[in-house]
Amino acid sequence: MSSDPNCIFCKIIAAEVSAAVVYEDDSVLAFLDVGPLADGHMLVIPRKHYTRLTDVPSELCAHMASVLPLLGRAALEVTKAEGFNVLLNQGAVAGQAVPHIHFHVIPRRKDDQLGYRWNAGKYPEGRASQLAAAYQAALSHHAT
Ligand code: 5GP
Ligand code: ZN
Repeated sequence: MSSDPNCIFCKIIAAEVSAAVVYEDDSVLAFLDVGPLADGHMLVIPRKHYTRLTDVPSELCAHMASVLPLLGRAALEVTKAEGFNVLLNQGAVAGQAVPHIHFHVIPRRKDDQLGYRWNAGKYPEGRASQLAAAYQAALSHHAT
């Protein structure tokens, strides 16, 4: 499905819903998030409708990623932020609300009160090597 008539971001792509567009090219659109976590919070989306990052062809994903440095530089310049987060939520459990995959670019400042609990754990003996081997095996039978 290259477009979903019920999808708010497909409607933005089709110009049926307005958005403050920041960047566009043949396959990607970037625009301001209507509910910003910080001044200048942007969303970067593929023009084609994909619900999950795991369904996006590598070439398209690479192109989406390739505009991030450009958008990041613009965010730092325009908002005078000191840094930014790039975030992608896949699945409701990860916080995905809009089923058209998107990168968030969120400008960050000292003491901005953003962020989430980063409860760093520690692997028990053997778990990391077991996981790495399982990932390598999974990757060997998944196409890129
Ligand atoms: P998610 O939780 O799916 O990762 O993020 C969805 C984001 O899309 C939210 O931050 C929300 O504010 C934004 N959003 C939802 N509807 C619209 C809209 O109609 N226009 C714009 N510009 N952003 C939207
Ligand atoms: Zn869509």
